[in-house]
Formats: sequence, C-alpha cells, structure tokens
Amino acid sequence: MKVLRELALLIRCPVCGAKPKQKCELSTGLPRTEPHLERCLAVENAVQLTTARLHLVARTDEPRNRPNSSLVEHGVNAPKR
Ligand SMILES: [Zn+2]
Repeated sequence: MKVLRELALLIRCPVCGAKPKQKCELSTGLPRTEPHLERCLAVENAVQLTTARLHLVARTDEPRNRPNSSLVEHGVNAPKR
C-alpha cells in the first residue's frame, strides 16, 4: 500500500533505525527502495490506534439530546460516493 509506505517515513524504523523522513537502509548502508515491513506495520498500528481514539472521542462528545445529530452524521457532511 503506497500511502502506508509514505506514512512509514514519518516514524523511526524499528529495524534499521532510520530517522523520520529518512529512507530505510540496507545492512550495507545503501538506501532501500521501500521501508521495512515492520516500519509499515508500526505506522499502520499507530494509525489504527489514532483512529480508534478519534472514534472514542467522537462518541464521548456526541450530544445526547440533539434531535438532528443523525442528520449531521449521515447527511450533508457525509462524503459522496
Ligand atoms: Zn528500516
């Protein structure tokens, strides 16, 4: 997944220790064309955690007595498919 590979560059690689925005390195010191799988998985994990937290916040912040809340959630602001 291309997006994940780009996101992976935002974090430090747990395998080769490449810093954020730096490409992963081979054991020879040459840059890899793709980040390590572990780096991608780590960033995927972080994204999922963040998403889960956002859902949690959204649920907690949701006003209970607002009659139009379902309209707001599923209506005008929903992205068109
Ligand atoms: Zn790496």
